[in-house]
Amino acid sequence: MLKLLKARSLRFWVALGMVVALAPLTLSAVIGHFVLNGSVISAFDDVAKRQRSELGPLQDLRILVWDTLIPIDEYVNEGGPQQPLLFRELRSRIETGFVDIRVQFADDADALLHLDNAFESWEVAQNLATTLTADALAPDDPEAERQAKLFHANIAATSDRLGQAFDVIQAKIAAEHDAAVKWSEDAGLVLAVALGLSLVAVVAGVVLVGLIMSRSVDRLVDGAARFANGDRDHRIDISVPPELSRVALEFNRMIARIDASETALAGLARVDELTQLLNRRAFDEALARLHAGIVSGSAAGALLTLDIDHFKAINDTHGHAAGDAVLRSFAATLRNSVRAGDQLYRIGGEEFAIILAGAGPDKAVDLANRLREAVSAQPIPYRDVKIPVTVSVGAAMLSGDLTPAELLEAADAALYKAKTDGRNRVVLSS
Ligand code: GH3
Ligand code: MG
Ligand code: MG
Repeated sequence: MLKLLKARSLRFWVALGMVVALAPLTLSAVIGHFVLNGSVISAFDDVAKRQRSELGPLQDLRILVWDTLIPIDEYVNEGGPQQPLLFRELRSRIETGFVDIRVQFADDADALLHLDNAFESWEVAQNLATTLTADALAPDDPEAERQAKLFHANIAATSDRLGQAFDVIQAKIAAEHDAAVKWSEDAGLVLAVALGLSLVAVVAGVVLVGLIMSRSVDRLVDGAARFANGDRDHRIDISVPPELSRVALEFNRMIARIDASETALAGLARVDELTQLLNRRAFDEALARLHAGIVSGSAAGALLTLDIDHFKAINDTHGHAAGDAVLRSFAATLRNSVRAGDQLYRIGGEEFAIILAGAGPDKAVDLANRLREAVSAQPIPYRDVKIPVTVSVGAAMLSGDLTPAELLEAADAALYKAKTDGRNRVVLSS
């Protein structure tokens, strides 16, 4: 699992961060949409619908019921054929109204009870009205007056009972409205919580990607800074994301290459091009190192300085190129004649030095003579001539009492003595 995640690209991590940040936000928007549309709005919708479909018709029915008083009263007072007709028309509308409302109240037992009671009163009232209009009682008949009063009373009772049904329904609608208000408040709270969670997720997403990126980028920057400060051994280690991991890999390869070329360049700076021996710079370093070793008592040895005899004459006689060839051959002879641990240096034009680690005076002089003999025994072939070469050698024992410069001076003084004593010889510094 961890391995799988580590292989994921930068694009993947940025996308993941965005999904983590945006998903809860989108989810809460979708949930909010459905909660608002599906529940909150529909709850208010139900309230409005009940008001329209139940309270409205009930109020209309009450007005119709009261309207029946007019034709009946006028009929009782004045008679005539028009009023019974008017009443019958109202009666028909009222009865249809009762039937319609009954359907609306089907699942509301309380309201239904009041409605049935109202209908009972209405039945009594409409029977009285029917009798009144059918019997055609005289207007001043006390029976007609009695029945008209009774009719009034029942119409009032019908209206009252319809009013009771109205109150019951209104109370229920009010309760539903309160519930809808509470539901909308709760939905608001849920949405606020979802929004809060989304914000937390947004921050988490940003922190997640930031964490993964910043650790790797920090390592890259740190590695580059170390490199700039000269550290060639440090290698940058980044595993995620693969893009930065590749950058680190290439950077490491670059550092390794630069390190290798720097080492090669440093080597070149310490090598003499003509003879391929170590040069004066390397000699000074080695002498200083050796001197430090002698002072601390961990090393001993001798220093030989060698100078080709009458080298100027070789140049003058055979030419500068011949001189170069002699220098190369001379260096090769030295290289073949010293012991494995002895270091050879070309410290001047035709001047050379050898550091003999661990050698005492006898050994140093012995080796110097062997070198001198090897050189004089092999004239150097150049074109069709053989150039005889001899060398003078000065030897000085390494000592902690002398500085490196004093040591070199001592060897040079011995070399100068070898020259003045007739050349092609070895002199040990006293
Ligand atoms: P001595 O026996 O006293 O050492 O005499 P010498 O002629 O060897 O000494 P001197 O110092 O007078 O001459 C050294 C010559 O070496 C002078 C210089 O032109 C020559 N030389 C120095 N470096 C090179 C080089 O790289 N190639 C060639 N061909 N000649 C060089
Ligand atoms: Mg010289
Ligand atoms: Mg010389």
